[in-house]
Amino acid sequence: MPQLVEISQILSGKYVGEEVTVRGWLHNRRSSGGIHFLMVRDGTGVIQCTMKKDRVSAETFEVAKKITMESTIELTGVVREDNRAPGGYEIQTSDLRVIYRAEEGFPIAKKYHGPDFLLDNRHLWIRSQKMQRILRIRARFLKAAREWLDQNGFTEFHAPTLITAACEGGATLFSVKYFDREAYLTQSWQLYAEAAIASLGKIYTIAPSFRAEKSRTRRHLTEFWHLEVEVPWCDLEGIMRIEEEMLTYILHRLVEDPIAARDLGALGRPPKDLLRIEPPFPRITYDEVVKILNDDGIRFEWGNDLGWVEEKHLTLKFDKPFFVTHYPRSAKAFYHKPDPKRPEVTLSADLLAPEGYGEITGGGQRIEDLNELLERIKENNLNPEDYKWYIDLRRYGTVPHSGFGLGVERTIAWICKLSHIRDAIAFPRLINRVYP
Ligand code: ATP
Ligand code: MG
Repeated sequence: MPQLVEISQILSGKYVGEEVTVRGWLHNRRSSGGIHFLMVRDGTGVIQCTMKKDRVSAETFEVAKKITMESTIELTGVVREDNRAPGGYEIQTSDLRVIYRAEEGFPIAKKYHGPDFLLDNRHLWIRSQKMQRILRIRARFLKAAREWLDQNGFTEFHAPTLITAACEGGATLFSVKYFDREAYLTQSWQLYAEAAIASLGKIYTIAPSFRAEKSRTRRHLTEFWHLEVEVPWCDLEGIMRIEEEMLTYILHRLVEDPIAARDLGALGRPPKDLLRIEPPFPRITYDEVVKILNDDGIRFEWGNDLGWVEEKHLTLKFDKPFFVTHYPRSAKAFYHKPDPKRPEVTLSADLLAPEGYGEITGGGQRIEDLNELLERIKENNLNPEDYKWYIDLRRYGTVPHSGFGLGVERTIAWICKLSHIRDAIAFPRLINRVYP
């Protein structure tokens, strides 16, 4: 058998004129006259394989005629450059072996399917070119994030998923039966991260967070991947710098990668959009946002958190990510540090993606003072008993510190210009969906 190669290698221009074997799934097919066009997918790419009647045995030509979509096959032929082929290269088939023939009637047909159908058949739909591209970008996004964090002295840390105390408010907690008591699925690593900075210094995690979001929106999942960072000896400005440096690095890495750049383009995101993003990102205050909204006729009361409507309106004015800072204490979780100069607001910053997308990170400076923390716990009607170990952190070596949490799917949705967050993850969990 000629050498077995990956399709991405062929598409990158290697192997022209050479005989190769590829192994994969029959992604698509059509026939015209004496030629079959077989689109073969192997997880690294999709390549067109032509089979001419006079170049193969009658038996092989017949096999290709009857082969079902998604059958697994092994195919041999010579690689040719051809700008009529999608991707610019094709294989001129000399031999074809069917490894497992798929049943007739692959549910994903070449026609329009509604979103519910595609979600019910998600286990098959993730084979689509669109999902392949998004999932590849997602993987590269996280790889680049890890690269930047590792190069800048951060240590990866893992916090528990099963927890006993909320950090983002009780309304979105999922409870789990934990033997004979109740526990919850974590909403963020926040409280544990604050313990771990005294052990490891600058840390990060990439892990699922869970929120029982009761509203149906295009930007909420009930299980999402959270890239979180926590840094001792860091203030609000310091954490914003880390965010903008990290995000810029990731975006530029994506664009430099030819496969990711091609995928982005195919999804409708011109790579140059991402390349021109550079720090510093614009910073506007929550107060300024309230004024802009009201000036534009969107009634919004000071003290509330920004919602979908407000963020959409605001972010359409920008073509780069920007920070909104100094949210009111009533709009932020209890661990956010009030501004000493103006205690009705917090030293907080959310990063908003432009073009109508909205919040992709939430973060800021945390409370380091014991009494201030106790006061905020009381103000939020939380029980200090539930936070005993967390409060301890202010008794034994407290330190000014800041951090943020980035929603991976929110960010991917913006980067890939998706209209709904569900396509930024393979198997989305939504208010009405935990299957498949
Ligand atoms: P929102 O106000 O949009 O519900 P949040 O203020 O609750 O978000 P944070 O608690 O600040 O969000 O969480 C940090 C980041 O995690 C957010 O900026 C967002 O990117 C992401 N995130 C939060 N909730 C969800 C969710 N339900 N689905 C997907 N991503 C989420
Ligand atoms: Mg927020």
